[in-house]
Amino acid sequence: MEQLIRKFVWGSRDGKPGLALLPWSTVQKSIDEGGLGFKDLYQQNKAFIMKIGFGLITNNSSLWVRVLKAKYKWEGVMPLSISWVSYSRFWSGVSAIWDELKECVTWDIRNGWSTDFWESIERIASVQPPRSDSGEDQLFWRWESNGQFSARSAYGYLISDTASGIDRIWRKIWKLKVPHRVRMFAWLFWHERLLTNAERVRRHMTTSAQCEICGCRREDMDHVLRQCVAAREVWCKIVPIAERDRFSRVAHREWLRTNLFDVSSTVGDEDWHVRFIITCWLLWKRRCCFVFESARGIGEDIIARGNVLVEEARRAFYVNIDTGGSAMEEVCWLRPPIGWIKVNVDAAVSTVEGLVGIGAVFRDDGGSWLFGFARFVGRCTVLVAELWAIHDGLAQAWGCGHRCVELESDNLEAVRMVNSNSNLLHEQGLFWQ
Ligand SMILES: [Zn+2]
Repeated sequence: MEQLIRKFVWGSRDGKPGLALLPWSTVQKSIDEGGLGFKDLYQQNKAFIMKIGFGLITNNSSLWVRVLKAKYKWEGVMPLSISWVSYSRFWSGVSAIWDELKECVTWDIRNGWSTDFWESIERIASVQPPRSDSGEDQLFWRWESNGQFSARSAYGYLISDTASGIDRIWRKIWKLKVPHRVRMFAWLFWHERLLTNAERVRRHMTTSAQCEICGCRREDMDHVLRQCVAAREVWCKIVPIAERDRFSRVAHREWLRTNLFDVSSTVGDEDWHVRFIITCWLLWKRRCCFVFESARGIGEDIIARGNVLVEEARRAFYVNIDTGGSAMEEVCWLRPPIGWIKVNVDAAVSTVEGLVGIGAVFRDDGGSWLFGFARFVGRCTVLVAELWAIHDGLAQAWGCGHRCVELESDNLEAVRMVNSNSNLLHEQGLFWQ
């Protein structure tokens, strides 16, 4: 499973897995620690086994607990060890986490009969003296305030050793109001793991760190995105003259930080950090085009393309609520009415081959994920693709028995056609029940 996730993150080319730009242990860290928040499946599995272990010590009336305890000659409430010379894989799994499980449970001392004095001595000062009429001692889960087991808290305990510094910068990166692929770029960018020639030399993939655009001896991130002739040419046109000197001289890391996150020292307008990261992303894309596709796209006007993308990003994240044109409202997902489900559909068209894919996500009235799908449609126009997405989304919801369905599409024309039951729908060859 982990291999599949790795392939998904790093991609693949011609059947070969893509190059891992960061150690997997970094990717597994939480968003706040600079990772992508993928679970460590080994620890996640241990957390699930802990659930079984916790059931064994607290769930005495269940049949499965009684059967296992009889089979493995269980003694006491919480034995020190449950290892056997020969046992099933299941039992070996539970006994492997036993020591960690013991760290996670603690006694609620009532009549004091089950609690070992020496084991509990640290807690005795802080609890009521045992009383024979206050019921049996209870074991409870240490990491939840209600004393009940949760896989989430067990996982948190298991990975706590590896948790490292939380940095607010990471969350800011994922909140940048830019397309997701640009955020992904910004994430790699802040980790300083773009595959420049200097980085490729470090990984023994090549022997020359030279910049292929200007011939400079060392092509590192700072060179590609700021110092290279090709980059300077672009920045010259968008950084105001008064700022230009500081912009080109400040140290690399500081340059990234101030332009990406420091709202007070933004160079240009309020969207400066959006324009900055989009321009960096376009410079990087142009560099890759130049290196891998021998100059195709080198002539592309980064500034014009940047303007389009900044405007698109602005429109995607804000809608103008028309109060004189200046007030903006952030667009976000809203819950459907109680008892309804919401379907969000979208289509994507590859501009090169014209191939189309569609997908949908289904959520309940609490916003929880129900299911989703994605499929290949073939070659068609964007409008037809959007109509297919709406069609399949509704058909799936209907097929799963949902009758109160709210559907959202970002294609106004498609929505209008569906709402007006346009004849064009039938001409498009789509059947609408
Ligand atoms: Zn260069």
